[in-house]
Amino acid sequence: MPLLLDLHPDQYPLHGYRRRQLLEWVFEHGAPSFEAMTNLPATLRSELADQYTFDPFLGIETVSSSDGSVKYLFTLPDLKQMEAVYMPYLDRRTICVSTMVGCPAKCAFCATGALGFGRNLTAGEIVGQVLAVARGQGVAPREIRNLVFMGMGEPLLNYDHVMLASRILLHEHGLGMSKRRVTLSTVGLPRGIRKLAAEDDLGIKLAISLHAPDEETRQRIIPTAHANTIAEIMASAREYQAVTGRRVTFEYAMLRDVNDQLWQADLLADLLRGLVSHVNLIPMNPWDGSGFLESSEQQLQAFYDRLEARGVEVSVRRSRGRDAGAACGQLALKRPEGNLISLQ
Ligand code: SF4
Repeated sequence: MPLLLDLHPDQYPLHGYRRRQLLEWVFEHGAPSFEAMTNLPATLRSELADQYTFDPFLGIETVSSSDGSVKYLFTLPDLKQMEAVYMPYLDRRTICVSTMVGCPAKCAFCATGALGFGRNLTAGEIVGQVLAVARGQGVAPREIRNLVFMGMGEPLLNYDHVMLASRILLHEHGLGMSKRRVTLSTVGLPRGIRKLAAEDDLGIKLAISLHAPDEETRQRIIPTAHANTIAEIMASAREYQAVTGRRVTFEYAMLRDVNDQLWQADLLADLLRGLVSHVNLIPMNPWDGSGFLESSEQQLQAFYDRLEARGVEVSVRRSRGRDAGAACGQLALKRPEGNLISLQ
């Protein structure tokens, strides 16, 4: 049976004000079922339930962190699992959603990378994470204003579903999010970046996980990175900016004695020359078995200072929910069952 959430709001069943009511129940009130849509006639509700699946998930578990963030672990109908993180920042509520079960990019510092690739999520399974988290937090779905595609998965390798999910998130009768508050984070796939630049009705923000300015270090951190050179990635970022006029963010996980040397800060500054950009330095969120350590505070500061001195716009982004296993995939890997995420 099709999943209702996989539909674009313009394609929802029913007509006229009934369709509007249905959309309001889903995206404004965050109804948990067709049954709960009390101003729709009972016959209509049961017809909808006969034709569509409402809930994309079989089960949901949560782990709370002392800093207020909450990790959600979702079990899908095929028993595969993935996760989202809710981060209640002071002035806005942010959610980090997954776009895949597992991830083929295999970043060496990332717990999800160690899981390998399971499958792509559908648009409804992506949007459903926002609705389920809102329900879990007791807030209306539209109160979650910021979204990052930065959980499990490489969004540009699940392109069509992620684009449809984005359109549902931004649609006035969907979640009504502002395009300035939706960010797609990619490991750096030039073809996908160019394709995204051409989605001119969308206008969501782009973040590129560069993690190193030199090929040798980058391929150590991201073993699959050999498929695209840094030069190709930077060329696609420049094209993206030329087409969209938007600033590009670069994510940089700080790994001790791996990518945190000052010559690498200089090389990064060289790469960014002439590009309107922002660099997020991310103190590594260590997980057992990663083989990496986080950079010392002193080295982090020195790297930051060097970038700033070179005119790079830079900030440090502290991970949220470290005690809840906030690096993507960590919660799954830590489960005692050990086989929580089935990738077969
Ligand atoms: S950091 Fe992101 S792109 Fe890399 S393996 Fe993890 S989920 Fe995939």
